[in-house]
Amino acid sequence: MTVADANRIDMFLSELAEIGRDDRSGWSRMAFSPAEREAHHLFVRWLEGYGLETRTDTVGNTIAVLPGRADLPALATGSHLDTVYHGGNYDGAVGVAAAVEIARLLAHDGGLQSPLHVIAFAGEEGARFGTPCIGSRLLTGAFSAEDLRVMVDRDGVTAYDAAAAVGLQPGEAAAARSGFEDVACFVEVHIEQGRVLEARERPIGVVHSIGGSTRVELVFDGRADHSGATPMWLRRDALVAASEFVLAVERRARMHATTVATVGRLDVDPDSLTTVPGRVVLGLDVRDIDSERQRDLAEALLDDAVRIAAGRDVKVSARRLSDQSPVALHGTVQSVLAGAASRLDLPFITMASGASHDAAHLAKHVPTGMVFVPCREGISHSPVEWADPQHIAQAVDLVVDAFRAIDAGASL
Ligand SMILES: [Zn+2]
Repeated sequence: MTVADANRIDMFLSELAEIGRDDRSGWSRMAFSPAEREAHHLFVRWLEGYGLETRTDTVGNTIAVLPGRADLPALATGSHLDTVYHGGNYDGAVGVAAAVEIARLLAHDGGLQSPLHVIAFAGEEGARFGTPCIGSRLLTGAFSAEDLRVMVDRDGVTAYDAAAAVGLQPGEAAAARSGFEDVACFVEVHIEQGRVLEARERPIGVVHSIGGSTRVELVFDGRADHSGATPMWLRRDALVAASEFVLAVERRARMHATTVATVGRLDVDPDSLTTVPGRVVLGLDVRDIDSERQRDLAEALLDDAVRIAAGRDVKVSARRLSDQSPVALHGTVQSVLAGAASRLDLPFITMASGASHDAAHLAKHVPTGMVFVPCREGISHSPVEWADPQHIAQAVDLVVDAFRAIDAGASL
């Protein structure tokens, strides 16, 4: 049986690397941009080269089909081709490169009983419109054309207008919707975007769950005063209150191994060396693989914020920006992937995904699994992001083996 060819995978990624390069030697293939469309055209060229039929839906997801020999639901795989601003060439792209190679191997062997669907999702990164997984959520019906009208990028362009400008039909978004009745399972290959696999020296991670996130904006309102003329006991320093809150976030998040909580944004007003900070706006991101723990922590932190603010005579208000539940991936798909790893003698660990993925949205409709490959030093969303094509090839062999097992009757 043919095995995955790391050189071909590398070649796909090299051709992709020519698309959407920015002027600071990174990649900016933004959601619903001409560069993203060009990347989808590359995907189409490669798959048509292997004899698959391709189509792009009204909102820009591209789906290639390798027919099956029997009338069975399809096995599906894929990921995304867009990037964050000044990102790398591996996040998302690795899963698409893997899917292209999976299609080549199965087409070369004359296909399976089941059809194979290879998918490049549109607009996965939230960087441009503040909302991730737009294509997969339109595909699964979680979003509609109306949602596209309210998402706006930093230049004031709506996702709706951006999609129309690159030749898509956002007004016909409903036509892209699928109930996935014709799909038996979906598997996404992705770079880990963390350092666990590298630290454990394993080439493969089988993902058991995808973490959710609760994002909150907090505003601490104190009083701006002269930094020389205002004694310490008269101050209502918004930044000191916010700082105490940041430490509370760290302390509470450390209480459970699967919890992570981050204050990654802090706007200090008036942001002057000689003024006591009067106002601080901060962004809190709480993630866990347990939805109750995630929400309980966010609640507890809001209580902390109120207590800390009261103790310093500072006002605090909070606004929830988004709230996404964690998703448990399909147990049997995990076992089939783990079985394939054992058969191929690939050392693996089962692990949670801290980042969100299209797979989290597919998982609500179809048995879904994810396979992680290591990325160098865990770096992602950066131009120096890199994954070893040999590791990607191993992930391809693993998914092909798992698909063959399901095709041969492993029940899901
Ligand atoms: Zn991604």
